[in-house]
Amino acid sequence: MRVLKFGGTSVADGAAIRRVAAIVADERHAGGDQGGPVVVVSALGGVTDRLLQIGALAQCGDAGPALEQVADLEARHRQTLGELAAGETARIARDALEEGFARVRAIVGAVAVLHEASPRTVDALAASGELLSGRIVTAALAEAGLSAQWVDPRQLVCTDDQFTAATPLMDETCRQAAWCVRPLLEQGRVVVTGGFVGATGRGVTTTLGRGGSDYSAALLGAALSADEIQIWTDVDGMLTADPRVVGEARLVPFLSFAEAAELAYFGAKVLHPRTIQPAAAQNIPVRILNTFRPGAAGTRIADGPGVAPAAVTALACKRGITVITITSTRMLMAFGYLRRVFEVFERYRTPVDVVSTSEVSVSVTIDDRRHLEPIVAALSGFAEVGVADERALVAVVGDRFGEDPATFARVVRALEGIPLRLVSQADARRNVTLVLDERDLSRAMTRLHAECFGHPAHAPARVHA
Ligand code: ADP
Ligand code: ASP
Ligand code: MG
Repeated sequence: MRVLKFGGTSVADGAAIRRVAAIVADERHAGGDQGGPVVVVSALGGVTDRLLQIGALAQCGDAGPALEQVADLEARHRQTLGELAAGETARIARDALEEGFARVRAIVGAVAVLHEASPRTVDALAASGELLSGRIVTAALAEAGLSAQWVDPRQLVCTDDQFTAATPLMDETCRQAAWCVRPLLEQGRVVVTGGFVGATGRGVTTTLGRGGSDYSAALLGAALSADEIQIWTDVDGMLTADPRVVGEARLVPFLSFAEAAELAYFGAKVLHPRTIQPAAAQNIPVRILNTFRPGAAGTRIADGPGVAPAAVTALACKRGITVITITSTRMLMAFGYLRRVFEVFERYRTPVDVVSTSEVSVSVTIDDRRHLEPIVAALSGFAEVGVADERALVAVVGDRFGEDPATFARVVRALEGIPLRLVSQADARRNVTLVLDERDLSRAMTRLHAECFGHPAHAPARVHA
């Protein structure tokens, strides 16, 4: 049994959802007697952003403009459903949409009255996107002759109560997913659920953070011991760099779990950063595939080794990075100083990506600036603190990166003339991470890409053994 996840662009409109139905039908027929697949869907393209904008608008206190936007969203969902299903199938989905939008309107009204949208309320609103799209996709699959069954993701993914970035509770999720989904698969059904969404043990709606549908698919794949987790999106697979930054980026046919996790962590948006962990823990291969070119091979992510000896597999980058430099003469030879520094980041639940230390200073990068002010205030209690924003981070990733010392020299040479603010390479040496000014990112990535992949001899001609 496989888990197939379709992202926002893959379910953006009627034509896209018809493609999804064809892919699921092929998978269903290939699967023979066993049930499935399990289909995990994102909100229709752009809907999560719109829902968050609606919440922000309502917070100003006037529900009118927010409700106008809700009406637009409702019209789009109804129109998409109308293009895909008719009769009884459409009626069931239409009723679900009506109920869903009544709920959205109720939340908007409450936010406007209170002038407040807590993270818990934001999650209730943002989760609506997947709860609505899921009903449309279920109808489209039924219309295509498949025995499709919608399952509310809040019955499957159990999380803690860190609203807007909840952490799944794996034991509970495994139990719930097995209990709800297995009987349906045994009956030969195709199971459809929404990604991104979960619920606390007490049934309060949560989300797994932006882009979290990939993570949902991996969690369900692990919970149900799937044979493969497929991430269907709008590009051919993991590319050698973000195609919006480097036009010449090309496909990486195979990645180890560790490489994929590094790339996702350092900004390769095609995978949510936490997707690989549940898959790797159970050694379930992940495939990234293009909904708009279903015949293409995609990227296979599995346990290494079995790869050709290219030093660099791919590049990743992230904009909007802030560097915090903490300087104190007390650091000199002091025990426990770094603990004190990192406790501050822990207290404000702000992950640190890159760390670099010198004798009296430590520089760290963060990309979540929400708690920057109290973090700086707390650090200023025992050190001098400098903050530099508009930085970007570049990661050069490859399992064999550390095997050839010349690779690091090539990376640095390629960036000649571009100021490097931070450089970090761990002893495990699967990557080197560089921090530079945001305005230099594009030319840095172009030059690095040409250096690492520009010549056929360096192309990542990786084939899984
Ligand atoms: P989905 O809605 O299907 O989840 P996302 O927009 O979240 O899709 O992720 C796919 C996008 O990720 C691509 O369209 C591409 O612009 C971006 N991306 C960034 N880095 C990479 C990379 N290394 N390989 C492929 N795509 C990347
Ligand atoms: N719809 C959510 C988002 O836009 C989750 C996802 O698509 O993965 O962030
Ligand atoms: Mg995504």
